[in-house]
Amino acid sequence: MTNRPKVCVDRVLPRDFMRLQPTTRAAGRTRAVAPIGKTWANGSTLRVRFMGGTSEQKKIVRDQAGWWTQHANLTFDFDDAAPNAEIRISFDPNDGAWSYVGTDCRSIPLNDATMNLGFMDGGTTAHEFGHAIGLAHEHQNPAGGIQWNEEVVIRELGGPPNLWDEATARHNVLRKYAADQVNGTKFDPDSIMLYFFPADWTLNGVGTKANEVLSDLDKAFAAGAKMYPKTGPTVDQPTELVVNAARRTSASIGTFGEADLFAFNVKKAGRHVIDTRGPTDIVMKLFGPNSPTALIAEDDDSGVASNARIAANLVEGRYFAQVRHYNRASGRGNYTVAVARA
Ligand SMILES: [Zn+2]
Repeated sequence: MTNRPKVCVDRVLPRDFMRLQPTTRAAGRTRAVAPIGKTWANGSTLRVRFMGGTSEQKKIVRDQAGWWTQHANLTFDFDDAAPNAEIRISFDPNDGAWSYVGTDCRSIPLNDATMNLGFMDGGTTAHEFGHAIGLAHEHQNPAGGIQWNEEVVIRELGGPPNLWDEATARHNVLRKYAADQVNGTKFDPDSIMLYFFPADWTLNGVGTKANEVLSDLDKAFAAGAKMYPKTGPTVDQPTELVVNAARRTSASIGTFGEADLFAFNVKKAGRHVIDTRGPTDIVMKLFGPNSPTALIAEDDDSGVASNARIAANLVEGRYFAQVRHYNRASGRGNYTVAVARA
């Protein structure tokens, strides 16, 4: 009898399925629209609230969450008194192990968990925290080396403990992410974001092993430019913008995957427009007020050509804008950014 693996369900919000559809851009190019990424602003403090759980379970969570913050420029603040904690963990043994991915957690109603730890074997908790900081499943890496035997996979996942129908098995295991959605460059067989899959689930008889600790690539990636570099700009030291400044602020994406961080203070509530200009294909996220984790909006191409533009009614307070290149694998370039009150 096959020892069927427990597979994490990564929860992806419905709008992400919509983004996978090809779209025609102003310039006539066609591509998938899934560019934004789900990373938090570099240097963020993410509050974690437990919704139940024993002291033993909570200890495992604190320990394994800390595996990431040894490398990533993030802080976890365990605060059960924070009703609006970014990460909210339940321990329902009948609901498997899953987490929403990165900033998607902010879209979940505050009474609901953003992560469930129905089992905590090995490095499961660290795996789920990988999702919570914005990582996808390694077995869905488009550069992945797994040659699935689809018939076997669908049959096996249809049995306990997963009991998935074919569509669910395809979504959670077989479907590979659009290249845009995945940050990694090469398949990492040691990643904690990979699950154990038996050899007979593949056509070439090469399965995967369960990884219970962060791999060297996991650590390097979490600390790298595309995620949370300790040397990169952080929410504590953003580049200041002034609303209605006389001149636009010049900036550049100098390293592949790098994020630039800007902040500005709204002193008079009203409709504001923040946009980028220049030849560089920019994507932007806006957070606030007074919180670098409260996502207000994200945009890819609403600005001139492939620039980003966000228009929003903003109350008084401090706001943060995270800017990336659309192409996180090879995109670099100069741009300007400005914020104006309409
Ligand atoms: Zn997972």
